Amino acid sequence: MVSEFSLIDRFFKRQTVNKSVTQGIGDDCALLKIPQGYELAITTDTMVENVHFFAGSDPYHLGHKLLGVNLSDLASMGAKPLAVTLALTVPKIDENWLQAFADGFFALAERYSVDLIGGDTTSGPLTLTVTALGLVPSGQALRRSTAQPGDIICVTGHLGDAGLGLKINQGYDCKQPDPALKRFNQPDPQVEAGQALIGTANACIDISDGLVGDLGHILQQSQVGACLDWEALPLSTEVLTYIENTGDWAMPLIAGDDYELCFTVSPDKVQNLTITHTKIGVIESEPGLRLNKSGNIQPLEVKSFEHFS
Ligand code: ADP
Ligand code: MG
Repeated sequence: MVSEFSLIDRFFKRQTVNKSVTQGIGDDCALLKIPQGYELAITTDTMVENVHFFAGSDPYHLGHKLLGVNLSDLASMGAKPLAVTLALTVPKIDENWLQAFADGFFALAERYSVDLIGGDTTSGPLTLTVTALGLVPSGQALRRSTAQPGDIICVTGHLGDAGLGLKINQGYDCKQPDPALKRFNQPDPQVEAGQALIGTANACIDISDGLVGDLGHILQQSQVGACLDWEALPLSTEVLTYIENTGDWAMPLIAGDDYELCFTVSPDKVQNLTITHTKIGVIESEPGLRLNKSGNIQPLEVKSFEHFS
């Protein structure tokens, strides 16, 4: 049986790679130097068994997803990931589970040179929390509150693939299930895209709870409205087939877990965009969210997943 301390040493303590980390795992606090001209961006996300993931989920996927969702929050503000802490509550010490979880976690951490610099380990119902720290040039972070009427609304990647992954887990029969399942199990945060949007985008958010809800946050905080163009939405063949089979055309608008970025750009800066994107609508001064579906403009209720409703 491994003790709490040898567990941390064995599974989580690795050589740090960032020189601004002056103390990693092992003391009461970690220490970080913040370079001149940068602000520290800080975010926390928790994943609870049976709330955010199914009991028995592959621990490699959980390690990847837990870090991925946190890096996605850094990406949405244009921050470069630097370091993370990990609070791990596990019902028992299962070495195979911990090894696979750490493998998934560090595979993504290494891709973005993120150091794990501390955390906490406790026993209880499986609950996974990461706090992520990133650096963003002072005063330049991308916010939710700064969209302007006339801005073009854009997204990275495809919408609804992770939502389709969830439907597949719940029994939907998809001919090509693997891409959607990968998007659901191991979302790839748009880390480079977020940083590339600094200085060009007016507002940005990552799509964790569905486009309608998350764009809704931009609209509320910027005190604007928007009209989306249904025909312009970037949908994969599998999602289009799902809609054809089920009639559930709203799924890619409301399903969560895509972790793409939704951002707004003023029309005169659109040509400065250096990242792959799709234009899906326009910010308007009239409040509310509308959908143009084949020339028929209908209101969309701005609603996203809430834990206590
Ligand atoms: P303390 O009791 O002083 O809070 P701990 O005994 O909880 O310290 O942790 C010892 C060291 O191991 C600390 O540096 C802490 O940040 C780190 N640590 C504990 N759990 C984890 C974990 N799950 N992942 C990474 N580091 C951890
Ligand atoms: Mg402790």
